[in-house]
Amino acid sequence: MSVKIKKVAIANRGEVAVRILRACQDLGLKTVLLHSEADVATRAYRMCDETICIGPATTAESYLDIEANINGAKAAGADAVHPGFGFLSENSDFARRCSEEGIIFIGPSPESIALLGDKIRAKDLVTQAEVPIIPGYQGDDQTIETLTQKAEQIGFPVIVKAAAGGGGRGMKVIRSKDEAQKQIESAKREGKSAFGSDQVFLEKYLDRAKHIEVQIFADKNGLVHTLYERECTIQRRHQKIIEEALATTLTDSFRESLMSAARKVAEAAEYKGAGTVEFLVQDDQFYFLEMNTRLQVEHPVTEMVLGIDLVQAQIMTAQEKELNWPERFSPRGHAIECRIYAEDPYQMGIPSTGTVHCLKWPEGPGRRFEVGIEAGDEVTSFYDPMIAKAIVWGETRARAVQKMQTVLSDSIVFGVKTNIPFLKAIMDHEEFLSGTMTTHFLEKNFPKALDVKELTEDVLKYVDSLKKKNSAIVISRVNGADFSSETSPWSGEWKTRSFNTSSIENIKGGL
Ligand code: ADP
Repeated sequence: MSVKIKKVAIANRGEVAVRILRACQDLGLKTVLLHSEADVATRAYRMCDETICIGPATTAESYLDIEANINGAKAAGADAVHPGFGFLSENSDFARRCSEEGIIFIGPSPESIALLGDKIRAKDLVTQAEVPIIPGYQGDDQTIETLTQKAEQIGFPVIVKAAAGGGGRGMKVIRSKDEAQKQIESAKREGKSAFGSDQVFLEKYLDRAKHIEVQIFADKNGLVHTLYERECTIQRRHQKIIEEALATTLTDSFRESLMSAARKVAEAAEYKGAGTVEFLVQDDQFYFLEMNTRLQVEHPVTEMVLGIDLVQAQIMTAQEKELNWPERFSPRGHAIECRIYAEDPYQMGIPSTGTVHCLKWPEGPGRRFEVGIEAGDEVTSFYDPMIAKAIVWGETRARAVQKMQTVLSDSIVFGVKTNIPFLKAIMDHEEFLSGTMTTHFLEKNFPKALDVKELTEDVLKYVDSLKKKNSAIVISRVNGADFSSETSPWSGEWKTRSFNTSSIENIKGGL
């Protein structure tokens, strides 16, 4: 007997809200968007069947407010809530409150969320399942003296992490004994203010690791499907920017060991639904990092190589429906995702806000764009600056990379600056192309903002010749799709006007 779900409340915003509502539509379900006052002019708002405003722009008073979300879902008569990622997606109290109110939380049980969300408890569970963890200290003695002493024993560099942390926050690297006190106190402070707990633990800091994670999915019968791995090694400040499926340099036997370890973790946690077991891989050894109990931002690359819909699978599992998946999938080809942020790549990625005047995504075979905004919408400073994701599929990694280079060159975002020129530079980098990169790729190869290159006579002539063709696509190839000051590539004014100073700056940087 399946569980009846007729209407799903989406407790999220932006591109993931659009992603969820599409999955609901494809399953014939109604949707209600629980949104903040700031998110009225957004794509998800326009696409949803119903909308309910749950509070002001500030996340604490809307997207992070458990009762506001519960009340919104109840007012709309929703049978289920999908939390997406971020916000309340890994909040066990929210999952518990949903079930108290008879609303299905599309995700694992509150107990699983609480267990795996506590990185120290998760490590204990994983150790019992005989999966290797990074050597370190996760004891109860939390005094600065003990933590410093333990850090010395582990051997610098050491990373201190908030037990309840996430999203790259509450984490500090300690490179020597002198720094220990400052970094431990700072991690404790961040943990307390962002996650309500100042408990921390220590790990040896791995300096040439790859981030590789396994997507798992436990169906309604509790059967754990291991859906291969993703590589998310390209990170800035411990946050992912580019992800791929499968990983670049794994042997088949290593992959099997990794998948079997992930399965053990999911089984030990009696997991249900979609989850990701994250590992660091260094010198042919893998170490458990954490398990995320939700949909990941980078889930599309897995979907592309396996031909599945993970969000539909989440909803169907909540409905107690069979997935009709094969016992084992055979991945095909290679997929890459780039996270597109509204930020200035020429100024170390400072956020860029404003009205988006024109958006053009170069659709085509094996290209997918997950986008939360449309032309005319505003990018504000209230939320995460990720405005879109570009995902490509190719028969081989080399072809996928080539396709991504084309996609980035041909994508047009006018009105706000984006990191597209930066993503292009990474896609062209020898170390990325060889697949040998480590999580230190960016600090090693791009320690500074992108260089604004000199505008020579030749370049000016070239730009002029492109301008005469009146082709926004061609122009965007020159400037790295960063004509942020322009309103529209097709407006008469734009066609005839000569480039103003700020657009020349952009052209310079993109060349
Ligand atoms: P969060 O939950 O905040 O995302 P994670 O523990 O998953 O934190 O780590 C995020 C990233 O930080 C990893 O992908 C890796 O790049 C880096 N990192 C975390 N722990 C270590 C470590 N022990 N050594 C080296 N890098 C680490």
